[in-house]
Amino acid sequence: MIQDPDIAIIGAGAAGIGAARRLAGSGLSTLMLEALPRPGGRAWTREAAGVPLDLGCEWLHSGDRNPWTRIAEQSGVTVDRRESAWRSQYRNLGFSPAEQAAAHDAFAAWGDRLVSAPPASDCAADALDAGGRWTAYLQALSGYISGDELERISARDYAAYDTASTHCNWRLPAGYGTLITGSLPASANLVLGTPVEAIALEGNRVALVTPAGTIRARAAILTVSTAILAGDAIALPPALDPWRDAASRLPLGRDEKLFFEIVGRNPFEPETHVIGDPHDPATGSYSIRPFGRPVIECFLGGAGARAVAEEGADAAFARATGQLVTLFGSDVRTCLRPLLASDWAGTATIGGAYSHALPGQADARTVLARPFDARLFFAGEATHPTDFSTAHGALESGIRAAEEAIAALGHPAPG
Ligand SMILES: Cc1cc2nc3c(=O)[nH]c(=O)nc-3n(C[C@H](O)[C@H](O)[C@H](O)COP(=O)(O)OP(=O)(O)OC[C@H]3O[C@@H](n4cnc5c(N)ncnc54)[C@H](O)[C@@H]3O)c2cc1C
Repeated sequence: MIQDPDIAIIGAGAAGIGAARRLAGSGLSTLMLEALPRPGGRAWTREAAGVPLDLGCEWLHSGDRNPWTRIAEQSGVTVDRRESAWRSQYRNLGFSPAEQAAAHDAFAAWGDRLVSAPPASDCAADALDAGGRWTAYLQALSGYISGDELERISARDYAAYDTASTHCNWRLPAGYGTLITGSLPASANLVLGTPVEAIALEGNRVALVTPAGTIRARAAILTVSTAILAGDAIALPPALDPWRDAASRLPLGRDEKLFFEIVGRNPFEPETHVIGDPHDPATGSYSIRPFGRPVIECFLGGAGARAVAEEGADAAFARATGQLVTLFGSDVRTCLRPLLASDWAGTATIGGAYSHALPGQADARTVLARPFDARLFFAGEATHPTDFSTAHGALESGIRAAEEAIAALGHPAPG
């Protein structure tokens, strides 16, 4: 391990990798410390049933301006530009065309109100149509988009993301996690399985205490999730309390994925989609046979994702099977084999899905992104003013933090 790098990067997720890419060739030495035994953080492609499956980020949101799209193209990685099937309901099962139109209109009207008549409370739930028939549906969407119920979402924060989004969602057949981890430059000097336990300011250095010893860097870029920053896994100097406080106002929501393998004769058609029950705020959203592969991905957000942690993966698979049986008939039960489940909330070094601002707290993103004392720099999806909660927002935040560090350090240390 390099003991005294110019810059230590804490966390090898999309933000840390973005910082490492920007620092490559800068002349500044880097050391990247990652607590997990693998790089990528919330970007994680796993192989199961012979196909790559993304447990975390999967979609190139705002794909037409997403820097990962360019990185994929430059590396010869295929980008699938087909429109997502999210808004369609296969054969209108359990969700008539009239209901779908009404539900989509309710969502659009709510989104318009957030911008045209934002609630004084800044609480996204206060823009709901009182007594509206589609509130449960909107709560389910809030679970997928923000990981939490509308009562806990800042209207201003949500609108900032939505306004900046190009609503163009593309995919990577080889996996988003594969692209992100494959983009880490060797110059990062990644060390896995090495959690930073404490950060201290020593003279003009930043001391990082790890089980493998203490590293003294001229500067550090901290990319850990808001759950980690606000928690007690890393002992921080009291001067960083405002950053911890900002992180606590940007909590991680809950989102989890369940993957089924499809076996035998079955009615599932490629690239189709169903919502399990549009009147259940905890419902799964099912992507059926993505890329024609023999899998179904069940996406759960908010209450649905919390239930996975509370009741366990077996119960979650059973509930998802029940929803598919209700829509497709009891014969499909024998075609569905539980394959893989995520556990982001239970992953101690991550602690949830992605950040959202609590009502009235959208400014916390700016507070969190500020450098400290020209030697501690903050990156991670939560620090992005508009593209938070995404892998490209994380990448851009890492590049921004690396540029701040380069400007602060100016030149490599002599010798
Ligand atoms: C279910 C799910 C679906 C998603 N879908 C999408 C999607 O389709 N599109 C999209 O753009 N985004 C999606 N996201 C969000 C996206 O994955 C994240 O916003 C992004 O990957 C976050 O990157 P990051 O670098 O900010 O944080 P992280 O990936 O969390 O990286 C931080 C790293 O720091 C490490 N760490 C923590 N503590 C320590 C310590 N003490 N010492 C050393 N290392 C430490 C962690 O282990 C982690 O690897 C999804 C996320 C989830 C969970």
